[in-house]
Amino acid sequence: MQQIVHDPDRMRALVVEARAAGRRVGFVPTMGALHAGHVSLVTRAARDCDDVAVSIFVNPTQFGPQEDFARYPRTLAADTAQLAPHGVKWIYAPEVSAVYLPGDATRIVVGGPAVRFEGERRPGHFDGVATVVCKLFQAVPADAAYFGAKDWQQTLVVRRMVYDLGLPIEIVVCPTVREADGLAMSSRNAYLSAADRPRAAAISESLRQAEQLWAAGAAAAAIEETMRKTMEAHGIVVDYAALADPESLEPLTADASRAVALVAGRLGSTRLIDNRELRGRGTSEPRSTPDQGLAR
Ligand code: AMP
Repeated sequence: MQQIVHDPDRMRALVVEARAAGRRVGFVPTMGALHAGHVSLVTRAARDCDDVAVSIFVNPTQFGPQEDFARYPRTLAADTAQLAPHGVKWIYAPEVSAVYLPGDATRIVVGGPAVRFEGERRPGHFDGVATVVCKLFQAVPADAAYFGAKDWQQTLVVRRMVYDLGLPIEIVVCPTVREADGLAMSSRNAYLSAADRPRAAAISESLRQAEQLWAAGAAAAAIEETMRKTMEAHGIVVDYAALADPESLEPLTADASRAVALVAGRLGSTRLIDNRELRGRGTSEPRSTPDQGLAR
């Protein structure tokens, strides 16, 4: 039976108590509007851990002033029902005022992997992400936290923060769950109009092309151009379509054997992101998840 907890101190006490009793606790932070991608993280956490906590919190500080904070879907009852069969012990759903206290004046500022791509287009976004993740880890001091590779840059930022601040939590990155046509599952897919929904498949299609071209030895600039054209041909307004180092997100060196392809684009008023790790050229190097060499 899952318990909904709103109070951070209460939440923390429950996790501390479980761990003191020798139980391994897994934590899945989310903003709700849950889908099969989120559930895959929960399933993985339930496999690895004795108890699982899921947070549902739409974090205001990671949204820009012109972004969709107000209209972001809030579906706590449906989310709770969706989690019921998956062995979640606690749903942590704090009020904004319990996370950002009156007079709140503290932020975590992240550089490094936070600087390019989403960091450039969404100023302050990753500072908001790092700040809330750190606060969530205070309320849910779990053994391990589970994040989706869907938000590749976010996983790098979180790992960097955890390493730099010495936070005692393991970060586990799980593969992206996709719809049948390849579209990465996202709470924001619900915004897509019926006409735009099929066009959105061009995002993952462009990443599939990137993978093939990379394996065949094509130049990075040519791959980026192909990705952009594929998306534009389907009416997507491309924010970026780029290859980068999969751990630093710096531009690729000429002899790079590993890369990540990152894309962001808009369909109507919906902004979608996706990525794919590219295997070593001409080799069958296995895909990994981003770890930045920061494992403690
Ligand atoms: P969000 O609710 O969008 O903040 O996402 C919460 C967590 O779920 C993040 O770690 C995301 O990367 C992860 N996530 C979102 N979509 C997917 C997906 N399609 N597959 C796997 N993980 C996902």
